[in-house]
Amino acid sequence: MTDTKNTAGTNWRPATALVHGGTTRSPFGETSEAMFLTQGFVYDSAEAAEARFNGEDPGFVYSRYANPTVAMFEDRIKMLEGAEAARATASGMAAVNLALMASVKAGDHVVAAKALFGSCRYICEILLPRFGVESTLIDGTDIDQWKAAVKPNTKALFLESPTNPTLEVIDIAAVAEIAKSVGARLIVDNVFATPMYQSPLNLGADVVIYSATKHIDGQGRCLGGVVLSDEEWITEEVMPFVKHTGPHMSPFSAWVLLKGLETLPLRVAQQTNSAGQIADFLAGQSKVKRLIYPGRDDHPQAEIAKRQMRGGSTMVALEIEGGKEAAFRFVNALDLIRISNNLGDAKSLITHPATTTHQSIGEEARAELGITDGILRLSVGLEDPQDLLEDVEKALAAI
Ligand SMILES: *Cc1c(COP(=O)(O)O)cnc(C)c1O
Repeated sequence: MTDTKNTAGTNWRPATALVHGGTTRSPFGETSEAMFLTQGFVYDSAEAAEARFNGEDPGFVYSRYANPTVAMFEDRIKMLEGAEAARATASGMAAVNLALMASVKAGDHVVAAKALFGSCRYICEILLPRFGVESTLIDGTDIDQWKAAVKPNTKALFLESPTNPTLEVIDIAAVAEIAKSVGARLIVDNVFATPMYQSPLNLGADVVIYSATKHIDGQGRCLGGVVLSDEEWITEEVMPFVKHTGPHMSPFSAWVLLKGLETLPLRVAQQTNSAGQIADFLAGQSKVKRLIYPGRDDHPQAEIAKRQMRGGSTMVALEIEGGKEAAFRFVNALDLIRISNNLGDAKSLITHPATTTHQSIGEEARAELGITDGILRLSVGLEDPQDLLEDVEKALAAI
């Protein structure tokens, strides 16, 4: 069933791999990838079933283990990332949980940068300690803190870069070196950078995870996630965890996300171009106290961003002068840009982290992360940049 013509292109450039990579065709020879909405598979004989189960015949057995549409998604993103192996999951959080759970056991230790997506903090600070895995949260931009935090029993280092919502950039190669020195696995949540702009495996990371919910879908439809790493770890640790605990991706979501990958480079490029224009406009406004954009020279870690990223970002962070009241007035005066906690969508979305995504972590933790009451996070979509600029300009005037 495999389309050998289309899976042969191992040296394809990214845009080509994202259109053709991983494609397998049924006997009908369909153009677009088929959606295999099936729980299980049938065998021609008892012997064939036996061979499938004992691994002599590598075909499919049950969709909790593997599914043809999900496999196409995994093979396609694997080619883009330059990873040996990938395992898709039901959501980004399932991918984060899987990557951590497949790395540790009771008595181990994890070090994570504290500027993490809220649910990732829950796994590190609350869930892992319940199972005897100690965790230390540090300021990820300070390399000395990583060095000081690792111990002989440290088995995983975990970070996001750029971070949510303040778009801090962490030196992945420097953290990877520290991980190697203690034999720990460096796991990078690459959602904000997208696979188009940052390749953590090339910088020395061991594992990359995505919430495919964001730019990979890019049109606000499905949740999904993926863990990418070396063949040995995925086969020996990640696969059995998914097989026996069930956080796998549904074939329907895999189909949507597979088609999302085809247009990923175009969407991310257009969204980044618009985000850059909006960032430049906002940087010159007196009502904007702080503007954070990884593609600008005034970014606090501009030099690291240039070294490890191939592009800016589809995200812009800004601090409005006048705290929560002024920030709310700005957000409420926007017409085109919608208020939502999601990101990476075709529709531009704005979030006030202190009262939504980062409300539950408390004031002290927010202060540590620089999430003031004036901070807003803007995810730039596919609208005409001129319409977005006019919307932003009008809302600034309304403060
Ligand atoms: C959204 C997000 C997640 C979680 O992904 P879900 O698909 O919502 O489960 C994890 N990390 C980052 C950086 C995210 O933005």
